[in-house]
Amino acid sequence: MNPLPANVTAAVAALPSPSSAWIYDPAVLAGRLGRLREALGGHTILYAMKACANPAIVATAAALADGIECASGGELRAATAAAATRLAFSGPAKTPADLTAATRTTTPLWMHAESMRELDGLAAAGYTGPVALRVNRGRALPGTHQMTGAPTPFGIDEADVPAAVDRALAHGLDLTGFHLHAVSNCLDAHAYTAHVHDALAWSRTAATRFDLRYVNVGGGLGADPRGDQIDLAALARGLKGIDTAGAELVFEPGRYLAAPAGWYTAEVLDLKTVQGQAFALVRGGTHHFRLPAAWGYSHPFHLVPGPRHEPPWTNVDLRVCGELCTPRDILNTGQPTPHIAVGDRLVFANAGAYGWEISHDRFLHHPAPQTLII
Ligand SMILES: *Cc1c(COP(=O)(O)O)cnc(C)c1O
Repeated sequence: MNPLPANVTAAVAALPSPSSAWIYDPAVLAGRLGRLREALGGHTILYAMKACANPAIVATAAALADGIECASGGELRAATAAAATRLAFSGPAKTPADLTAATRTTTPLWMHAESMRELDGLAAAGYTGPVALRVNRGRALPGTHQMTGAPTPFGIDEADVPAAVDRALAHGLDLTGFHLHAVSNCLDAHAYTAHVHDALAWSRTAATRFDLRYVNVGGGLGADPRGDQIDLAALARGLKGIDTAGAELVFEPGRYLAAPAGWYTAEVLDLKTVQGQAFALVRGGTHHFRLPAAWGYSHPFHLVPGPRHEPPWTNVDLRVCGELCTPRDILNTGQPTPHIAVGDRLVFANAGAYGWEISHDRFLHHPAPQTLII
């Protein structure tokens, strides 16, 4: 584990007790975006804001990326409020009100249509902006969430693409290309590179009745909450000189940009041993940070000592649980811990993507976590 940045340690130490908080550093996202831009060689980067929709993070992404990818009407409003200069709108099950909002927005917007019915809805709403068909095709890529390569509800089946092209053109929609988001948390740069090449080649063959101007390969660049990440140098080598035949090549990463920009911290309220297992019970838990429970892994933690009123426990294999009345409220099933006391703060790094955003904080009416921007 890398040590905690000094500004995070200082912010954690300054929290009022008993603390639980989300801490975001937009400068980390900015740095990450700069390195990704270099690796992708000038191709378009849209930030997928569902990974982390904290307003300071979205505002930074809106200023530094080429635009914001939204997956709901609510995200469309939030991205517009964050002064995004370009929007993309994906997501299954868009409502007629969503399509109307997309039609009325004054920010340039690229629509990713997920079904035939949505094409009809766009025409009915009077939408005149660019449209790409989201297509469910291709082999599954290595990663934690496969959107393609198996029956999933995303996009239009590959076999229906000719009919969807016909439908879009019959409606007079401005059909520009395809959207081929396939995976999340892909740590294999070689496989991801192959996905990009394959997406371009397939799009060329599928764009038979219109001019191909747009190929969106989706997100999925890996940044695992346990620390591994996709090899950017290998990705850069694989994409060097790629021929898009004049089409705009678009990436829409969420996780890769947001994961290292967020930390979750929770204070130890109690320590106990049950049947030989040492437990730390924290102010907070999986209702603030659901990712470890959702995926079933142990999230590594750092320790920032609090004001200690008792001698610390030493050299324990510590299981970290939250304040919920369920045995599933586990952040870490066991981490060797040299010293720990009530009042110490545990800090979970690499938590910025799909951390707070996917959490069920209503459960049990505990207080919400604080949010800090550093
Ligand atoms: C979630 C999502 C993304 C971002 O995926 P990451 O794995 O976070 O990079 C991009 N595009 C679409 C359509 C998505 O649903």
